[in-house]
Amino acid sequence: MESIKGMVFNIQRYSIDDGPGIRTTVFLKGCPLRCLWCSNPESQNPCPEIAHRESSCKRCGRCVEVCPVQAISLTEGAIRIDRNLCDNCGECVSECPHEALKIFGKEMTVDEVFAVVRKDKDYYKVTGGGVTVSGGEPLAQAEFAAALLKRCQEAGIHTCLDTSGYGAQPDLEKILPYTALVLFDLKHMDPVLHREYTGCDNELVLRNLELVVKNGTPLIIRIPLIPGHNDSDEQLAAFARVAAEVAKGAPVNIMPYHRYGTGKYKMLDLPYQLDDLKPPAEERLQRAKEIFNSFGLECEVKI
Ligand code: SF4
Ligand code: SF4
Repeated sequence: MESIKGMVFNIQRYSIDDGPGIRTTVFLKGCPLRCLWCSNPESQNPCPEIAHRESSCKRCGRCVEVCPVQAISLTEGAIRIDRNLCDNCGECVSECPHEALKIFGKEMTVDEVFAVVRKDKDYYKVTGGGVTVSGGEPLAQAEFAAALLKRCQEAGIHTCLDTSGYGAQPDLEKILPYTALVLFDLKHMDPVLHREYTGCDNELVLRNLELVVKNGTPLIIRIPLIPGHNDSDEQLAAFARVAAEVAKGAPVNIMPYHRYGTGKYKMLDLPYQLDDLKPPAEERLQRAKEIFNSFGLECEVKI
């Protein structure tokens, strides 16, 4: 099992937002959803991707010279990358003296990831932390996620799955036996709007939520609060009903919309569709909390 490889785009040590205590969050690449507000666009494509940071680039042209397939050009004073030609060889990344290029995504074995995770075992013990497998969508790499979580569980490390809930049920079933806590995203309760905002409807998500509950795995509902998209009183009440009834009173974390990921869209030549959207006002966050509390739910706003 340890020889199974996963496509990882980040391993974040000392994370405090992805479950209890201090954690190491392993971000897996590839996601079937395309949430308009996604703050990790580098997580969506399951393959490695070259990225270019315009603000660091000095336009020296060294990357252009070393690219074996002529995928990079310096045209009208700007670097352009032909992503159809690029095979992610990494030559340009090594050559760039200004760290303006990087490749998101690296194939790693369970052993390699575990070697990073285990480094902070003492912190996990003291703080009640552990490992969180996130994404992208971990269900899209279920074999790897299950093998990694199993390895951590066997080493006495608390295990957590951070999921959008959008994945095949057999894949979720593979992972749950090695998962002590699920962070389960709900993005919209209306299937039509869910499809409009994420590209997929929410039927599978809700069936998977039922599966987690039936399995008895502790869970926290996480709601990305996106102004004008899912933050009306009616929508918040709809989320709360699902948390109270389907998820049997699971606590709720509100994840306010932020814009920290917008620079990465530029690095990947991807359009960002919520350019004019501002983070939610404090009053709206408080109102959301009140609504969840009125359903008897614990609710925390994660800033
Ligand atoms: S080598 Fe780096 S700094 Fe020079 S043009 Fe390429 S990306 Fe820009
Ligand atoms: S990663 Fe390789 S193929 Fe892609 S642009 Fe850089 S040098 Fe060219």
